[in-house]
Amino acid sequence: VIILVSSVAVLSEVYGDLLRAAGATERLMELLATRSPVADPVQPLALPSAHGGSAVRFSAVNFHYPSRPSQPALVDFDLTLHPGETVALVGPSGAGKSTVLQLLLRFYDAQSGAITLDGVDVTQVSLDDLRGRVGIVPQDSTIFSANAMENIRYGRPEASDAEVVAAAKAAHAHDFLTALPEGYQTFLGERGVRLSGGQRQRISIARAMLKNPPLLLLDEATSALDAESERMVQAALEAAMKNRTTLVIAHRLATIQQADRIVVLDHGRIAEEGTHSELVQRGGLYAKLAAMQFNLAT
Ligand code: ATP
Repeated sequence: VIILVSSVAVLSEVYGDLLRAAGATERLMELLATRSPVADPVQPLALPSAHGGSAVRFSAVNFHYPSRPSQPALVDFDLTLHPGETVALVGPSGAGKSTVLQLLLRFYDAQSGAITLDGVDVTQVSLDDLRGRVGIVPQDSTIFSANAMENIRYGRPEASDAEVVAAAKAAHAHDFLTALPEGYQTFLGERGVRLSGGQRQRISIARAMLKNPPLLLLDEATSALDAESERMVQAALEAAMKNRTTLVIAHRLATIQQADRIVVLDHGRIAEEGTHSELVQRGGLYAKLAAMQFNLAT
C-alpha cells in the first residue's frame, strides 16, 4: 500500500488520462499539476479541539478511483473511530485498506457518503488543518539527507532540540542515535549513515510523536525485522498510540491483538468486525488470513 503524498502524483492519476485524451499540451499539464485535485473550501470550518484523540466517521461512503469508474474501491462503507480507540484494518490485497486512509486524508473525495473528523465534514476543513491533525507513519519511512536531529524535527519544524530528543526517547530511537559516530548530528541518508529498517521506522514514529497529533494513521511495514528490532518498533508504536485515536493497516499479530477492534475488509466492504479472539473463533475470512499470515492454528 502506498499513501500518496504528492499532489502531482494524485493529480496525474485523476486528470492525466483525461487531459491526454483532450490533447492538452505537456505545458498545460505541468501547470495544472501544481494544483491539488481536491479543492480547499472557500470558507473553511474550524476543527474543534480533540483532547484524548480525534473522532472519525465514514458514513455510507462509496468510492471508485477516477480512472476506474467500473471498479468500486469502497462500497457502502461505514466506520466509526471513537476518541482514543485503536482500530486495525486488515484484509486481502486490493481490499481497500489504503483507500480508507487516502480518503480520510482527502487525497480523493468520495462520490457519495460523508467522512467527518471531529464532527466536521472533511470537505469543509482546509487541507492544512485536516492534515495537521493527522500523524502518518508510512510503510517505508523516508530518511532525508540531513542529520538525525533534522530528520526527526521534520515532524514539527519549530520544535526545540530538547523536544526532538524527548520524541526520540519515546520512540525508542534515542539509544541507537546517541551510539552513532556523531550522535544526533550524524548525517543520515544516501551519503550518510545507513539505518536498518527497524531504525528507520523508529525515526518515522519519532516524527509522528513530535507532531503529537490526535489522530495517527499507521501503515505497518510488511517486511520482516529481526526479533530485537521488532520488539523495539512494537514498543515505539505502543507509545505512539497512547492517548490518541489510531487507524492502522496492520500486518503484525502483536498490533492486531492490541487493537480495540479489527475491521476486516474484502472487495471494498466490511466483511467482519471484532477482536482477534472473536474473529479467530468465528472461522471466517479473518481466521483464514490469520492462519496464512501468522501460522495460527484455527
Ligand atoms: P494492499 O494490501 O495490496 O495494499 P489495499 O487493501 O490497501 O491493498 P487499495 O490499495 O485500497 O487496497 O485498493 C483498493 C482497490 O482500488 C484495488 O482494486 C486497487 O487496484 C484499486 N486502486 C488502488 N489505488 C488505485 C489508483 N491509484 N488508481 C486506480 N485504482 C486504484
